[in-house]
Amino acid sequence: MPPTDRALKSSAGTRSDIRTYKGIGVSPGIAIGRALIIEKRVASVYRVPVREEEIPGEVTRFLEALEKTRDELLDLKQKVSRSMGDEYASIFEAHAMMVSDASFADKVIQKIESEQVNAEWALSEVEEELQARFQSFEDNYLRERVADVKDVSERVLVNLQGIAHHDLSEISHDVIIIADDLTPSDTVHFNRRPIVGFATEVGGRTSHTSIIAKSLFMPAVIGVPRLTRTIDNDELVIIDGYEGTVMVNPTAAMIEEYQSRVTRHAEAERKLLENREIPAITKDNIRISLQANIELPEELDDAFKFGAEGIGLYRSEFLYISKSPLLPTEEEHFETYRTLVEAVAPADCIIRTFDLGGKKLAREVMGSKEDNPVLGLRALRLCMKHRDMFKTQLRALLRASAFGNLRIMFPLVSGVQELRQVKRLIREIMGELDEEKIAYNKNLKIGIMVEVPSAAIIADILATESDFFAIGTNDLIQYSLAIDRSNENVSYLYEPLHPALLRLIKGVIDAGKRAGIPVSMCGEMAADPIYATVLIGLGLEIFSMNPTSIPVVKNVVRAVRYRDCRRIAEIALQKKTAQEIEEFVIESVAMRFPEGLANKQL
Ligand code: PEP
Ligand code: MG
Repeated sequence: MPPTDRALKSSAGTRSDIRTYKGIGVSPGIAIGRALIIEKRVASVYRVPVREEEIPGEVTRFLEALEKTRDELLDLKQKVSRSMGDEYASIFEAHAMMVSDASFADKVIQKIESEQVNAEWALSEVEEELQARFQSFEDNYLRERVADVKDVSERVLVNLQGIAHHDLSEISHDVIIIADDLTPSDTVHFNRRPIVGFATEVGGRTSHTSIIAKSLFMPAVIGVPRLTRTIDNDELVIIDGYEGTVMVNPTAAMIEEYQSRVTRHAEAERKLLENREIPAITKDNIRISLQANIELPEELDDAFKFGAEGIGLYRSEFLYISKSPLLPTEEEHFETYRTLVEAVAPADCIIRTFDLGGKKLAREVMGSKEDNPVLGLRALRLCMKHRDMFKTQLRALLRASAFGNLRIMFPLVSGVQELRQVKRLIREIMGELDEEKIAYNKNLKIGIMVEVPSAAIIADILATESDFFAIGTNDLIQYSLAIDRSNENVSYLYEPLHPALLRLIKGVIDAGKRAGIPVSMCGEMAADPIYATVLIGLGLEIFSMNPTSIPVVKNVVRAVRYRDCRRIAEIALQKKTAQEIEEFVIESVAMRFPEGLANKQL
């Protein structure tokens, strides 16, 4: 037995200590490690008057916290530079410079002295003033510094308040992160040991934190109420991302069972990969194209490994996350896109322009606060408002289009007007490139995500001005069933087989067919082997999904007859509730091609 296994088992609990919590399994896999609780809340800041003679002590306390923060940032800079390169490290260098800036320290000290208040209060007042200043700038770059001010001030505040930091690089055992909430940008940094899995209190099946967990192969369970209050640091935890369970203090027998499940799953996955080279073709010869959704360029290898025939969705906003708080430059955009399209050529590579805002990265992006961010300045709307940022991305996309089969896709289009405006902007940029004699693909295909109900309903009109459609069920479900995709309280209403959804999807596929443009689906629904039968029956021919799901869906495609799927879809469309449809579909799959169900349970 390897030493870590022995250590795990020797610290295992007895049967009476075991605690099991049920949540939503959003990223498959099993992880075993010790709990590390991350509390993201910074304690509230109160105004505490200080006496005249206490002021020097307060100033010293502030200067010490500042010094500590600067040391931490420089240390972080070095570590990040070693592990991820200088580009990423420069963020922390910039933050360290801000902390060392004498005028920043002076402002806080002046406040402590003139108002005779505690350092925390003085700091938060200065933070607010600086944020307001930066926010008022016309210049995008300066406005975006709001996020830096916030980040740096929070670090100083944490040191002032003596809240412990976790330095993961010093932990030698496997760690399961337990948190109330995690942003996609937190999660994107979880890509290496000692972190082997995570569980959170909030979130939804199709939230971006869940999606990124999947692409990092990180077992994850979300939506477990009060988790951070029921688990202690260092308790032994098993995360079962298949079942959506978190087990605390497992017995030695349980650990053994879960370890053997890891082996069984690895074996099953190896077998599934055997179908990598064969096409996804139904028994009656209908060809289905299975493509990959990726968030990070590094996932390309996985896309190929699992047999993707192209990239159906590259979520370019993750390029922003990895650069945040800096904006990617045109060259950085260009290099990323060129590498992608060249690697994928001759197959298509659909790059979606930034889908920032909404819940996704709202705080990080524009420092903007909205009452209803999911219905607010998100995706294409946000990009059209921040033209400079958007033009940088579009120029880079156009330039990269000369190197392969790049297709541009816009997220969250709700009507024809928006599409026309953005196409006008593209024409403008094409004109500029022509003047500069820079090459681009003049026949570049421009398509849209159909993920807003209004777009689905007028798909026939949009199809006349769009080169392709990609149905985004994650948002289409969110907006048409009125359920926040990141809210665990309404996740029971997440019903891809809801009759309203099936009708919308059918309408979009039919409209695309009538106009002769390709229609794909890249929401999570496309990755489910059971739903695949209905979707094929509705006429869907292009599925795009996280790479690991491709082999399972391919097995289903190869096991079914299009004719039967058509019948299943017809009957499903006549049913009244999602439950009735689901029962019927599962029954049909079990009866006609039991392999489909076996795959689902894998
Ligand atoms: C969708 O909405 O289905 C989709 C694929 O886009 P995202 O999940 O990035 O919003
Ligand atoms: Mg979407």
